[in-house]
Amino acid sequence: MKLGDVDFLRAIENHHRDTRKWACIGYHFLIGRNGQIYEGRPESALGAHVHKHNAGNLGIALLGDFTKELPPQAQLASLEQLLARLRQKYALQPRHVFGHGQLGKTTCPGPALQAWIHRYRLRKS
Ligand SMILES: [Zn+2]
Repeated sequence: MKLGDVDFLRAIENHHRDTRKWACIGYHFLIGRNGQIYEGRPESALGAHVHKHNAGNLGIALLGDFTKELPPQAQLASLEQLLARLRQKYALQPRHVFGHGQLGKTTCPGPALQAWIHRYRLRKS
């Protein structure tokens, strides 16, 4: 059985709440394969997404495996929109956007998406 986005989100929430004992889902935002943006926890709440680096940032998770492939067009477009909105709101530059693996020992979010993030960070605006 293929998990839909909502089932997948519920599984993440259960994992974070029951296994990790976090208050609720650890990310501030999650983006489904179809581009749907979900709110995990309020922006004002401290995230639980990057070991020792949770303060002063927001966590965005994209559902999928980006080891070899980039997210689908709709998902990537939503990521762009969300980043644009948050960067405007918090006066952030492209270089303020990080992949998980840049802040901790993990291959997350996968080489394909990390390469995209590296290109994003080099943008002028
Ligand atoms: Zn991660």
